[in-house]
Amino acid sequence: MTATTTGTDRTSPVSSRTSRTSAELIRAEEPVLAHNYHPLPVVVAAAEGAWVEDVEGHRMLDMLSGYSALNFGHRHPALIEAAHRQLDRLTLTSRAFHNDRLAEFAERLTTLVGQDMMLPMNTGAEAVESAIKVARKWAYEVKGVPADRATVVVASDNFHGRTTTIVGFSTDETARTGFGPFTPGFRIVPYNDLEALAAALDETTAAVLIEPIQGEAGVVIPDDGYLTGVRELTRRAGCLFIADEIQSGLGRTGRTLAVDHEGVVPDLVLLGKALGGGIIPVSAVTGSREVLGVLGPGEHGSTFGGNPLAAAVGTAVVGLLETGVFQRRAAGAGTVLRDGLTDLVGRGVLGFRARGLWAGVDIDPAIGTGREISELLMARGILVKDTHGSTIRLAPPLTITDEELRTAVGTLGDVLTRG
Ligand SMILES: *Cc1c(COP(=O)(O)O)cnc(C)c1O
Repeated sequence: MTATTTGTDRTSPVSSRTSRTSAELIRAEEPVLAHNYHPLPVVVAAAEGAWVEDVEGHRMLDMLSGYSALNFGHRHPALIEAAHRQLDRLTLTSRAFHNDRLAEFAERLTTLVGQDMMLPMNTGAEAVESAIKVARKWAYEVKGVPADRATVVVASDNFHGRTTTIVGFSTDETARTGFGPFTPGFRIVPYNDLEALAAALDETTAAVLIEPIQGEAGVVIPDDGYLTGVRELTRRAGCLFIADEIQSGLGRTGRTLAVDHEGVVPDLVLLGKALGGGIIPVSAVTGSREVLGVLGPGEHGSTFGGNPLAAAVGTAVVGLLETGVFQRRAAGAGTVLRDGLTDLVGRGVLGFRARGLWAGVDIDPAIGTGREISELLMARGILVKDTHGSTIRLAPPLTITDEELRTAVGTLGDVLTRG
């Protein structure tokens, strides 16, 4: 069969599946795709739940979940159904008009996270950029910071996205080098250091922006009391506390938000990744009316932000989290993960940090780099991703069974002891 230029011969899903092998597809990407990633050599063609299938039909357990964008697994039936239903009715209006799905999404999301208002965006980086704009405007209009003097305090080893402003306050040289000049107005303090944070706050500070757990840095969990301390210091300094929960939020740590572990309520909470149910990009800035209320018509926007398809999927995601089942599941399966990893300490694992279904595992560098271990695991049907050096990150879908989790950790043990 030869496909016509209109592609109308490609009627069945099977005939549209590629006839090229994984190796051919990887080679085909090289000359035509920007090299800003270094993916594992696996070409995924289908997926369901915690399992993916490559072009050759090998089934593999997904222990990364799209960096937490797939908290509910691949193609969760409730999310796919919500998307299908919405696709058949209305997909995009732009915010020039109201759509009939956005009110409910905003009501239920703000209730879920205990905030008053939300600003819908698409990607995580956009939510971060939006929060910086809101914090600056709040600083000028409410706090009374002189024009163009506002500062935002951030932490070392942060990851908040890839835009020019955001990489400008990264401490990762690979992320920054070659992309300047950068946006001024940021101060960097060591993470998990309340004294350094206190010293950086002054009358120009609009906000402190931190991740409650630093995912990209290797699932770095601050000391108990750090988030409470950040809340107290920001309140005393009269500045905002912005929590980037784009990776840590929406069930991953065993609670709806990572800040819930300390019962802390930030002024702005940033959500993304899992908010789109693994289907489309959906992000949001959530916050108090006093803060998000500073935005007026025309001062900020997004063509796609708050579109009805995103609202329908996002509402279905909120619906899953309203039950509490996924948060409990992350906490329960998290103990299985923690127990399994504890057994590996001293047997190829130097140490690990874990909360809920999320772990950064430091592999003995004598055994291999994170990348090498990831490739060995891939060959045995377990997909993970290295972060830095010899650290690998585990973040399986919250739907994974205890049995599957034990298999994954057991395979890691095998790879570390036998290669
Ligand atoms: C992934 C991530 C972002 C950026 O999200 P994108 O959708 O990739 O722009 C921001 N903050 C944190 C903590 C993240 O993990």
